[in-house]
Amino acid sequence: MHSTLGPELEAFRASCRMAAERHFRPLVERIDGGEVIPAEAREHLGAMGAYGLPFPAEVGGGGGTFLAWAVLHEELARVLPVLGLYFQVNSIAAGAILEVGTAEQQARWVPELFSGRSQGFLAFTEPDTGSDIGMMQTRARPTGDGWSISGPKTWISNAITADVGLVFALVPGDGAAGSAGSDETPADDLAIFLVDPRQPGFHVGSHLPIMGLRGTELNELRFDDLRVPTDALMARGRRAFDVLRKVMSIGKVGICAMCVGLMQTALEEAVGYARRRFQRGHPILDFQAIHHLIAEMVASIEASRQLTYWAATCRDQGIDAVTELATAKLFVTNAALSVARQAVSVHGVYGIAQGATVERLLRDAQVFELLEGTSEVQRELVMRAVRDLGLC
Ligand SMILES: Cc1cc2nc3c(=O)[nH]c(=O)nc-3n(C[C@H](O)[C@H](O)[C@H](O)COP(=O)(O)OP(=O)(O)OC[C@H]3O[C@@H](n4cnc5c(N)ncnc54)[C@H](O)[C@@H]3O)c2cc1C
Repeated sequence: MHSTLGPELEAFRASCRMAAERHFRPLVERIDGGEVIPAEAREHLGAMGAYGLPFPAEVGGGGGTFLAWAVLHEELARVLPVLGLYFQVNSIAAGAILEVGTAEQQARWVPELFSGRSQGFLAFTEPDTGSDIGMMQTRARPTGDGWSISGPKTWISNAITADVGLVFALVPGDGAAGSAGSDETPADDLAIFLVDPRQPGFHVGSHLPIMGLRGTELNELRFDDLRVPTDALMARGRRAFDVLRKVMSIGKVGICAMCVGLMQTALEEAVGYARRRFQRGHPILDFQAIHHLIAEMVASIEASRQLTYWAATCRDQGIDAVTELATAKLFVTNAALSVARQAVSVHGVYGIAQGATVERLLRDAQVFELLEGTSEVQRELVMRAVRDLGLC
């Protein structure tokens, strides 16, 4: 397909592809077999500038664009989709610190997170609430010289190896606009705290294995009277919600691009298999039914790729792109699921065999659909924009 990206970005894509093949292809089976992403892979990601690429060089980022970041994600995911999920946690955490951290917090953590020397995490999900963060149980109470945080979190990426984290908790509020409860109920405010995971009161619980994107280090967390200083409170109320939405939209650029890379591999695998597999004396690639499957896959991939590049470009043009990224994530993650399923169909029973690449991709695609806001939640975000436009 003709690329509209231009020679510079296409050359960048070629260098990312080469690095992904060299450094990460040998890891695929180990990681899908349950190993965590090894230290050398983390170092390669740091050397590629993956963590901070779309952020300004003055703050320790790569001075690149979100569009270039999408291309990087795409090429890494073509080989091993979970890599992007791993490194973008740092990008999101650093993005939040850049939004609402003090100058001291930014100087201390942002260059560290962008280089990959330090690991960050972001914790809002809890056992009793995922999408509806206003219902969270984690609370912070003032202690005079700071805050004490207590409560549970779960499904938190990379916390087990983290040096710093952003924790979402409720703080006593006045029921003003931006509080976490319903409009009728005076409620506590949502707040974001910068926490040190080495402090007493920070506990890492069980590891949580999942069906796809294996290699992700997901854990339960529990805070018991975790003490943080006053300036650890980075934002509260409406501002905290806005920051969460804004940094989640950074993550969604990555998720969409990872899905495009995943789909590209699904297509390559399907075409390769259809050439090799013979039925009735012909490669199955000769059958019209297979043509239709492959043509549909190509259409879904190209539509997803362009939607991803458009959403990334919106970020590059300086807008938060919350609606644009919700639209893209809704479409692209669903496309990834259907393309992975179509690739499995082309393979027949060999597509569901343990160890088949397309079997792994189907499992990975299912996880992408749930991450950083499920499809149902993306539909709600898109509808909010439709309402704001006065269309209903
Ligand atoms: C690999 C992985 C990594 C993760 N990393 C992190 C992390 O680092 N930090 C973190 O905080 N969390 C993380 N999560 C958790 C993730 O953000 C949550 O799973 C997600 O927010 C959804 O929450 P839930 O699974 O509890 O679903 P729920 O919110 O309980 O939703 C259950 C169902 O109800 C639907 N639903 C919910 N609300 C609505 C609504 N308003 N309208 C319509 N339908 C609705 C959902 O779409 C879904 O179908 C991770 C999850 C995974 C799989």
